[in-house]
Amino acid sequence: MPSDDLKQVELMCASHAAYWAKANRIRLSNGQLFSTEGREYQVPFMRDEAPEKCYMKATGCGVSDAEILECLHGMIYGRYRQGVLYGFPNDGDMMDYSKTRWTPLIQFNPAQIGKHLTIGGKKTDAADVKRIRNANLYLRGLRMMPTADGESRQSVAATGIHVDKAVLDETDQMEEEIIGKVRGRLSNARIDGVRGKSQIVYIGNPSDEDRGIDSLWQGSDQRYWYRKCECGGWTCAELEFFEDPEKCVGMYPDRISRMENFQPTGYVRCTKCGKPVGQRVGRWVPTKKENSRRHGFNWSYLTSENQDPAHILHCYRHPPENNIGDVIRLMLGRAYSSTDEKLRKESVYACCSLDGMPDSHDGPCAMGVDNDDNKHVVIGVRTGPETYKLVRVFALNDVTQNRFGQILDLIQRYRVKSCVTDLRPNADSAREFQRAAIRYGCRVWLCEYTESPLQDCNFIDNSGIVKVYRTGIFDTTHRVIMNSQIVLPRRNKLIDDFAQQCCNCVKSKEIDKRKRTVVFRYKKTGNGNDHFRNALNYFVVAASKVGRSRDRRFELANKDCVMDYSVI
Ligand SMILES: [Zn+2]
Repeated sequence: MPSDDLKQVELMCASHAAYWAKANRIRLSNGQLFSTEGREYQVPFMRDEAPEKCYMKATGCGVSDAEILECLHGMIYGRYRQGVLYGFPNDGDMMDYSKTRWTPLIQFNPAQIGKHLTIGGKKTDAADVKRIRNANLYLRGLRMMPTADGESRQSVAATGIHVDKAVLDETDQMEEEIIGKVRGRLSNARIDGVRGKSQIVYIGNPSDEDRGIDSLWQGSDQRYWYRKCECGGWTCAELEFFEDPEKCVGMYPDRISRMENFQPTGYVRCTKCGKPVGQRVGRWVPTKKENSRRHGFNWSYLTSENQDPAHILHCYRHPPENNIGDVIRLMLGRAYSSTDEKLRKESVYACCSLDGMPDSHDGPCAMGVDNDDNKHVVIGVRTGPETYKLVRVFALNDVTQNRFGQILDLIQRYRVKSCVTDLRPNADSAREFQRAAIRYGCRVWLCEYTESPLQDCNFIDNSGIVKVYRTGIFDTTHRVIMNSQIVLPRRNKLIDDFAQQCCNCVKSKEIDKRKRTVVFRYKKTGNGNDHFRNALNYFVVAASKVGRSRDRRFELANKDCVMDYSVI
């Protein structure tokens, strides 16, 4: 090859990770040569320098491989001199990755990658730190740990390191606080030596709506892969499918013979001419250009040559094991929450009556207080074994001076006999409040949420603490609202806030790969403000300790109801 051509190749290799990986015949951890053939959509995002990138994708997009190659390329060519943090939800996932992906990558590519690996010195080839030329690649399990005082939490794995780029793989399995901590690790970044130039990458299969990767995606410029047809038309399979699945996916007339030859039996239809349109020629088109700081990429099985569009359509119409959620999340790359998992505001409003919120009550009332900096208070009565009437809610903003003083006042006005509030984060003032309330004939229980399903609710008399199974009480209030077992006041601005905050969490399945167990946890969604939901949870716990209210109006209303039926 003439030297000018060689120079050209060198330049191309230096400037584009995909070109470098192809020209150097990099072998992936599965043993196959890196190729963009059939995965043309990968090429643009391997040279994308946006400060943030977000991949919301179905399984098997190849983006983790693409990102690790991009990181290695950047370190070999000196773009990321301060190194890269590649984060996983926990140490177990990190170790798995190191063993099954990283080690083969080094073994298969001794000349291209292995030779740049500096071995020796301190811990540079330990499982969690690799030294590439002069920069560190940190592989880390990112989890929030409680600090010694138990009051606040920190991310141990990410402290003390500074990097130019960070990749968070399986973002939906991480806690939201992690992202803020990792951003802090980029504060001194200098990609290409440019002060302040950094990149953070989020990768995830979506799970719940408005949470994790879906919430990051919503804040991105939302790019979709538009494929170009020979007729000149452009089609985005991901968008067309949700518009009209049967219109998006066409069927080959000779389906049976194609099936026998292991060929796809369906195709994505061009929106212009109606003929099959492949996915190799295309481009990413942003749909929310105002969010240009974060480039978002959505990818589904429809943009994979290993998947048959006819099969995808079949699974969408007839979900295996009736699990439409996993079809939408894992095949179509979109978030999904059912009403079993996430309350909708309409369900909360359906519990609203025409009653106003009175300034006092004869009781006996129960009270739930979310002990955040602004106290959120739910006061109500029990009307049956598992039925309630909510009398009034408060969001107390000005408690800096008087702490729980205002709430003691409410205890008297509403004849509150039983109250539950969370022990943390303001444990001292909660204890003080607990002692003060006794003078007004109200027993206060300090709540500690637990993750143990063995006991739903455990009142410990001598310490005044109630241990509550967190998922269990969220399940209970979910059911109470879905079944209209609670009567709410008439809608107003405050009740609208209450409704919103009741919906700001979702029941989510977590799989502990090491222990091979499945646990369900409620996680925050939306703006993450779920104070009133917690206050409602505490109210329901507190109400188990008060008798039924003799609210005359309620009894009368019930009687009217019975009489109406008896007439019929
Ligand atoms: Zn066409």
